[in-house]
Amino acid sequence: MKLGIVGLPNVGKSTLFNAITKAGAEVANYPFCTIEPNMGVVPVPDERLDKLAEIFHPEKVTPAVVEFFDIAGLVKGASKGEGLGNKFLSHIREVDAIVHVVRCFENPDVVHVEGTVDPIRDIETINIELILADIEVLERRMERTHKAARGGDKQAQWELDILERIKHVLDEGQPAKMCQLDGDEQEFARQLQLLTYKPVLYVANIDEDSITQPESNPYVKKVMDYAKNEGSEVIPLCAKLEEEIVQLDNEEKKLFMEEMGLKQSGLERLIKASYELLGLMSFLTAGPKEVRAWTIKRGTKAPQAAGVIHSDFERGFIRAEIVSYEDMLACGSLAAAREKGLMRSEGKDYVMQDGDVVLFRFNV
Ligand code: GDP
Repeated sequence: MKLGIVGLPNVGKSTLFNAITKAGAEVANYPFCTIEPNMGVVPVPDERLDKLAEIFHPEKVTPAVVEFFDIAGLVKGASKGEGLGNKFLSHIREVDAIVHVVRCFENPDVVHVEGTVDPIRDIETINIELILADIEVLERRMERTHKAARGGDKQAQWELDILERIKHVLDEGQPAKMCQLDGDEQEFARQLQLLTYKPVLYVANIDEDSITQPESNPYVKKVMDYAKNEGSEVIPLCAKLEEEIVQLDNEEKKLFMEEMGLKQSGLERLIKASYELLGLMSFLTAGPKEVRAWTIKRGTKAPQAAGVIHSDFERGFIRAEIVSYEDMLACGSLAAAREKGLMRSEGKDYVMQDGDVVLFRFNV
């Protein structure tokens, strides 16, 4: 899962991104991609992995991860090429969801680019750039589709109708996701890769003092009302504090959080919210070599889940042997689960469930 961090200058993006990078030091041996300077990889907190590790004593434990991309430099006029303009907009196109950091902290030492703290104005400044960029994409697409539609192409006429409806929403200054679309139309809209069709999580960056009661911060309240209207989520956190939290070891962290009256760190809440927002879940693999969590979309069937591990697994898929996480814990070993008849053999139509402990059987 890829998340792109955006926001005006001086709102706390780098501070949050530093926290992310430090959190990612734990998974430094992350095997899948070369880590770029603007990318941070964070493990998805999952206590099931620790419990399974107690059973299997594996050589290593590999959590699912979320990739954060720092898309700094989005400023007023970006859609017209101001700042590093279009380059940043194209980076946003590649992410699954946007994390929009908004300044909700007062600090006379930190200059606000617009002079005052005003989260809604800030949100709209960024959003208008994204909307303008989308309008440009849409206009180009409409031009082509228009020609085809005039030639009597039914599909093109259907598409043109959707494009026009989305354009209308954008022209009103609203994000594309506010356009009312049904199933097929939504699928078509997704393929357009519009920036404002992507899910958004607003991070309300608050100061240390509001951390125990973020709702009492009037700026946060405003952001929540704004986000509610467009169906987005708000995660209040203090980026500065997050940066400190990730540097503590587990024991220190526990104490510190208790002292602050916090159950989860802001980063953990952010990751959890993005999982929910994107409809993701994890299945697990466990053995003496490795205990590991893998990310899939809800509704994914067994062969495609196998394909997340390796494309050969999907191609040669025979069946999946599955024990639920709860049964696995209760039985204490795969053999015991099998003996008790709690290991199910599932075929290619099986829809994976969150926390399934899986052994894939496949032909090579
Ligand atoms: P960016 O330009 O959006 O990347 O912003 P930075 O992360 O560089 O932050 C700008 C300034 O705001 C820095 O001096 C930070 O120390 C300060 N800052 C960032 N987050 C917080 C926060 O949560 N609370 C307070 N009080 N200051 C913060």
